[in-house]
Amino acid sequence: MCQPTTAVSDIDAVITSTRDIGGGVSIISFNAPDIARNAQPGNFVNVKVGPAAQPLLRRPFSIHNVEDDVVELMVKNIGCGTSMLCQAPEGSCMKVIGPLGNSFTTDTSSLKTALLVSGGIGTAPMLLLEKELNAKGIETIQLVGGRTKEDIHAERLHNCMLATDDGSAGFKGNVVELLEHHLDNFKAKGPLKVFACGPNPMLNALAASCRRNSLSCEVSLETVMGCGIGICYGCQVELRHPSGEGTTTILLCQDGPVVDANQLLLT
Ligand SMILES: Cc1cc2nc3c(=O)[nH]c(=O)nc-3n(C[C@H](O)[C@H](O)[C@H](O)COP(=O)(O)OP(=O)(O)OC[C@H]3O[C@@H](n4cnc5c(N)ncnc54)[C@H](O)[C@@H]3O)c2cc1C
Repeated sequence: MCQPTTAVSDIDAVITSTRDIGGGVSIISFNAPDIARNAQPGNFVNVKVGPAAQPLLRRPFSIHNVEDDVVELMVKNIGCGTSMLCQAPEGSCMKVIGPLGNSFTTDTSSLKTALLVSGGIGTAPMLLLEKELNAKGIETIQLVGGRTKEDIHAERLHNCMLATDDGSAGFKGNVVELLEHHLDNFKAKGPLKVFACGPNPMLNALAASCRRNSLSCEVSLETVMGCGIGICYGCQVELRHPSGEGTTTILLCQDGPVVDANQLLLT
């Protein structure tokens, strides 16, 4: 199942570029050779967004991409920390711990085709995941959803199918409906696995669909997180016990963010 991370770095990283890609989302690039070398798809970094005391707590972000020594984040500006990060000037420093958390399982020998399903800023980990799966000879199909076309950030992904609630780009409907619409075609491609990241209602609907259709699925969950390294216990998530009997509580920063979709307590 989901792979644990081993080598973690705690560094002062220099921001090499901040690029606004629209819809309140920016790509933040920074120099971090050790994090770049050890990053696995699904891992995240915990970032102290500025030198001032506030915001005190670090903010977690999925590793979006790695190019040589440079790590990239895809950040949506939703509050004080993400606003500071999206406006950080080139050459400024930020404290970064990572790579943290577990990763998506990409070493499934029987896997032929992977469906990468994301919603909104949940697209962030899908570029690194696509690259890793393609390097292993696994075909990837990206299913990317958003409320409108402004919420879709698929420019750097390949083999994409889009879904928007208002029909402004691609299929009119949500990304789970898009998957179900094409499921027979996907199944004809041989052994399938679904990898997903997005808002919790989307992941719940996807998990239910995968159970109905007997599809293996891993999801990357989000929760408010404090330390990111298993000390503060701020990111506890209750899941179904892997045995199927009762529930278990995990720390998402350590035992996640990637979990088997079968373990979600569908609400
Ligand atoms: C493992 C993990 C990976 C993540 N990856 C990414 C990523 O790649 N890109 C990205 O843009 N974001 C990502 N997030 C979410 C990101 O960490 C939050 O958006 C960020 O911490 C908000 O900080 P802020 O100071 O801007 O918001 P605040 O000012 O602290 O809060 C603004 C509002 O957003 C709400 N909020 C804060 N954190 C979250 C959260 N985690 N989920 C939902 N609502 C929240 C608050 O309750 C508040 O209403 C990830 C979260 C986790 C746990």
